Amino acid sequence: MSNFTRRSFVKLTGGVAALGLVSMPSVSAFAAAKKRVVVIGGGYGGSIAAKYIRMGDPNIQVTLIEQNKDYYSGPLSNWVITGLRKLEVQKWGYEGLKKHGVEVVIDQVNAIDPAAKTVGTVGGKKFEYDRLIVSPGVGFKSIEGYDAEAEKAMPHAWNAGEQTTSLAKKLQELKDGDPFILVAPPDPYRCPPGPYERASLVADYLKKNKPKSKVIILDPKDKFSKMPLFTGGWKQLYGYETPNSLIEWIPGAQGGKVTRVDAKAMTVYTEMAEFKSSCINIIPPNKAGAIAEKAGLTDDKGFCPVNLETFESTKHPGIHVIGDASAAPGLPKSGYAANSEAKVCAAAVVNILNGRPVGIPSYVNTCYSLISPDYGISVAGVYKLNAGKIVEVSGGVSPGTAEDTVRKQEAVYNESWYQSIMADTFG
Ligand SMILES: Cc1cc2nc3c(=O)[nH]c(=O)nc-3n(C[C@H](O)[C@H](O)[C@H](O)COP(=O)(O)OP(=O)(O)OC[C@H]3O[C@@H](n4cnc5c(N)ncnc54)[C@H](O)[C@@H]3O)c2cc1C
Repeated sequence: MSNFTRRSFVKLTGGVAALGLVSMPSVSAFAAAKKRVVVIGGGYGGSIAAKYIRMGDPNIQVTLIEQNKDYYSGPLSNWVITGLRKLEVQKWGYEGLKKHGVEVVIDQVNAIDPAAKTVGTVGGKKFEYDRLIVSPGVGFKSIEGYDAEAEKAMPHAWNAGEQTTSLAKKLQELKDGDPFILVAPPDPYRCPPGPYERASLVADYLKKNKPKSKVIILDPKDKFSKMPLFTGGWKQLYGYETPNSLIEWIPGAQGGKVTRVDAKAMTVYTEMAEFKSSCINIIPPNKAGAIAEKAGLTDDKGFCPVNLETFESTKHPGIHVIGDASAAPGLPKSGYAANSEAKVCAAAVVNILNGRPVGIPSYVNTCYSLISPDYGISVAGVYKLNAGKIVEVSGGVSPGTAEDTVRKQEAVYNESWYQSIMADTFG
């Protein structure tokens, strides 16, 4: 509600009360006039959208529907795998959002009806909306043999929680001399540097605990995010590209693409070879979370095309898709980008519901990674919309060569970045 209408509203109700009129509108009539926004998914995107809509216009009723009572964050979850951090400190809850007036419902959405503008849940509830925001994170495309049983035997740990601790346990149990096999996904996927940070921290763990083992990365790609910084760090710390390297990276051009897995035999197959170990981490190709697909919001690549000014779906008007599930070429799929998209979307939704034009967006991203517990690197970018495309207007990466103190400092910044974004998301 704009200031003008809010003032008018106060004047009107004040006047009506002074006259003592019996025709004063009932509370329920006011409530019915309130605009309703429903948000699906209480992660980095959905929580921020819900909170910032309430901050932008407290007269909008916001309901956040999240399937889990607790949220386990992806950022810093690689640290849990190698014992640098407990899973418990990755856990966040929704009390902070309630303080902003967000109605939080713990339930799973299983139906979206864009024509009736309703959302249905597994718990049998139905919610009406004027605008719907969908932020369900990622789901996975299939790899031959990677079924529910295989997911337990060869965890992806690409949604933090149980999967993270399962992979941590398998790493602890790995026999010294056996490899840690990491199957990286093709682009686009959640957290582009994530698999390589994971490989780095596992190498650090092996160096200290199982020096006869090594990490083998099987990759369908030939390059990856912050690659010169990662490989530089690997050379410095893990003997990369020497016969005793703790990391071996097999890119797509050298047959790194995995075509099939066999969980019973704990073996993965590429076009050229097979790899066996008790500890295999498969990160399958990503797509938008299941509910987005079910609601017909996805395209043939599995993500949700959107208008980049508002994040409104180009498939279903009135529904916005943010975070990893959206197709926003030019922005990485990261928690920070999801935060930025959520703010652009929240501002647009507040404006639309108040009959105002939407603003001109800009977006930001910063992503830290650890190559060892005290060796941090980062990438940062500021983006704007240019002729319908998201383009980077400023940014950069950590220096290629730097003193140890600089790398140490970035590792500290990593943790403070995390604390700030979590305070923003759930505080
Ligand atoms: C190992 C790892 C490291 C990472 N490191 C970083 C990092 O350093 N920096 C960074 O910026 N990003 C990082 N990320 C990426 C970051 O976690 C994601 O980009 C971010 O979580 C995306 O936010 P989202 O809102 O799209 O999805 P999510 O945060 O996954 O939230 C989606 C929510 O929707 C809920 N949901 C799904 N379907 C339904 C349904 N049908 N009904 C109700 N609820 C539903 C889920 O339970 C979940 O809580 C990392 C990720 C991983 C895996």
